[in-house]
Amino acid sequence: MNTLQVQQLQELLANPKQIAIIPHRSPDGDAMGSTLALYLFLKKLNHTPIVISPNDFPEFLAWMPSSETVLIYENNKAEIAQLLARQDLIFTLDFNALHRTGELEQVLKNLTVPFIMIDHHELPETYATITYSDTRFGSTCEMVYNTLVALNKKELIDKDIATCLYTGIMTDSGQFRYPKTTGTTHRIVADLIDLGAPNTEIPNLIFDNNSFDRLHLLGRALQNMKVLPQYKTAYTSLSQQELQEFNYVKGDTEGIVNYGLTIKNISFAAIFIEQKQEGYIKISFRSQGSFDVNQFARTHFNGGGHINAAGGKSFDNMQVTLQKFEKIVSEIHI
Ligand code: 5GP
Ligand code: MN
Repeated sequence: MNTLQVQQLQELLANPKQIAIIPHRSPDGDAMGSTLALYLFLKKLNHTPIVISPNDFPEFLAWMPSSETVLIYENNKAEIAQLLARQDLIFTLDFNALHRTGELEQVLKNLTVPFIMIDHHELPETYATITYSDTRFGSTCEMVYNTLVALNKKELIDKDIATCLYTGIMTDSGQFRYPKTTGTTHRIVADLIDLGAPNTEIPNLIFDNNSFDRLHLLGRALQNMKVLPQYKTAYTSLSQQELQEFNYVKGDTEGIVNYGLTIKNISFAAIFIEQKQEGYIKISFRSQGSFDVNQFARTHFNGGGHINAAGGKSFDNMQVTLQKFEKIVSEIHI
């Protein structure tokens, strides 16, 4: 955030306000961590913040401090739309385009109060009064940490705020493995540990939280995996029926796509998940090295994201989608 933006933000926060904080649809650890950290921080500054998530968050994030205060737009659309109309300020965190909030987009579009975007995805939209967007960061949580420091309010980071920020940095960096993890990331994380983030408990809460059904679902995804060594690609799929067979709950498919990348000499992995209710196939793409899956998702599958992690959608059926995917992969250089 540049000096002018810090000044603008200080002015916007100078007197107590009603402030809505919005993560992207299907919030992950970074989206939840950044919104909850900001929520806890703004409360300490005597504002009246509220986190409004477009839809429910996964159960493995339900332990996060103040997650019980998060309102779910999908569960109560009319009332939440009215609540949004009464806000003085809107923060949108961990996404670059309003359509990433699903149906909430229409409500947000009609608001006239200032928006503040904090995000690390490519090609940010221009709806915000303050756009703090920088793809060099591995997580929005790291950017929220920087924002609190820039506001000269580091002393307000307590154990709960540190816990939320640590969670987002840890999950979005693949436990400090992905290329955007820098010395600065580790210095911030060290600081958050000193401020009380329970660094050895958090991975346990996030990752050692499987149901037996979830492990079986993972087993099926691994069985369904197809490897195309000549294209350095591995992909898998899960049908709606398979999700039902293993009593799918939100979050169960999280991280499965990464298994493809653990195969030697594979640098592009994808998972296709049939979502009959939504009427499309949700796709996750991951890469190692220079292959840009953000570009791939944008060009071919109505999506986007980052260089090494992106997502998209297909409105064809599974068979047609997978055939299309294989054809594209065979025609490009990975
Ligand atoms: P995931 O595969 O975990 O859903 O998403 C990986 C990354 O790509 C995340 O940073 C996410 O925000 C982004 N992403 C996922 N789906 C979409 C999409 O449909 N459109 C765009 N623009 N980005 C997406
Ligand atoms: Mn993120």
